[in-house]
Amino acid sequence: MTTITPAPAPLDPSVDHEIRSIVAGSSVAETCNTDLAAGPWAFDERPGYGPGSSMGDVIPVGAPRQGELPQSYRDASEDELDARIRAAKATLGDRVVVLGHFYQREEVVRHADYVGDSFQLANAAASRPEAEAIVFCGVHFMAETADLLSGADQAVILPNLAAGCSMADMADIDQVEECWEQLADVYGDLEAVDADGLVPVVPVTYMNSSAAIKGFVGRHGGIVCTSSNARTVLEWAFARGRRVLFFPDQHLGRNTAKAMGVPVEEMPMWNPRRPLGGSTEEQLEEARVILWHGFCSVHRRFTVDQIAAARAEHPGVRVIVHPECPMAVVDAADEAGSTDYIRKAIAAATEPTVFAVGTEVNLVQRLAAEHPQHTIFCLDPVVCPCSTMYRIHPGYLAWVLEGLVDGQVHNRITVPADVADPARVALERMLAAKPPAAPAAAWENAS
Ligand code: SF4
Repeated sequence: MTTITPAPAPLDPSVDHEIRSIVAGSSVAETCNTDLAAGPWAFDERPGYGPGSSMGDVIPVGAPRQGELPQSYRDASEDELDARIRAAKATLGDRVVVLGHFYQREEVVRHADYVGDSFQLANAAASRPEAEAIVFCGVHFMAETADLLSGADQAVILPNLAAGCSMADMADIDQVEECWEQLADVYGDLEAVDADGLVPVVPVTYMNSSAAIKGFVGRHGGIVCTSSNARTVLEWAFARGRRVLFFPDQHLGRNTAKAMGVPVEEMPMWNPRRPLGGSTEEQLEEARVILWHGFCSVHRRFTVDQIAAARAEHPGVRVIVHPECPMAVVDAADEAGSTDYIRKAIAAATEPTVFAVGTEVNLVQRLAAEHPQHTIFCLDPVVCPCSTMYRIHPGYLAWVLEGLVDGQVHNRITVPADVADPARVALERMLAAKPPAAPAAAWENAS
């Protein structure tokens, strides 16, 4: 008699399902907030980023609020929303392109025409000039970047206006302008070149910043970077300036500059609430990189203790973390790299491998489902997704798509020309600065 071994059940890539199991008591895992099991519309009227990793961060007073989502979307089941989204997309055809960030929930990503990081998705949007509408399932600064790179007649839509980014919001344009003025008091004329042909300071902003910050950088001879090209961009900046002002993410700036050999003591932090950012004039004179006091609350959750626990439980584990993690975590990991790097590193592993990954849980869980030959888990044992990515729910996606079917454009994101023009200059400098290899493309979703 032949014994048939049942195939292992496919892994469920849905973080939403896992959170609901935790809240229902059928999973022993832990979540950072049981409110995550509710629909995000429960938080549309409340100030704050909502439940998840950023819930302790301070939201700016003027941050956009989402209006009430119609009841029929709030009441619809997962299956009904799935069917409504598919039907609306089929009706719209090539008139719409749906972009899904790596950190989006599975129930949204499955409807995306392209899946990638913010810059890959902005490029994907630019590659579809025939689309009348670009629905960006990501956060606010990503929709702004897509608007910068897409055609003037294309509407970029953010399904939930409350999907900001707590890290991007930590670099407020007024605070950055004030910082620039204070630096001019220390360094003198910020546009004057010295005997070596260098200006005193070059501003560099991470892609994860508002269009206003990108515009500021463009106006002041600076440049944008991504987590994939931060080193190339810093080399570009050091070829033009004595030092760099890097915002908003202190960790990406510190980890990248440290890997380039810049001593940590030459990287003071700029706290916008303190005179001279909390440094002395001497410290600013000695500085090579001035780090804005910003961070990502998702990646700040990863710790050296979690890495030690992973190594103890899984000898030989390969630990890969995102460079938005604190320096001690990057130092303790085996590798650090962007979401695209992490995805490709796992795809390239030919032998069954145990991976402990330090990045957003939706991506980690999806990678685990895509690569059942490997053991892949999130370094953080507490299920705590990005609060702001979480604000995009299939209910909002169905609402904006059905709106388009009815001729209504909900939640259009438009960057004014006086900001967009210099912001594009900063982005173009980044494109010119990158190494000759072609930019990584967003991967086209076959589903
Ligand atoms: S993961 Fe961090 S940087 Fe990315 S959108 Fe969320 S808060 Fe912002």
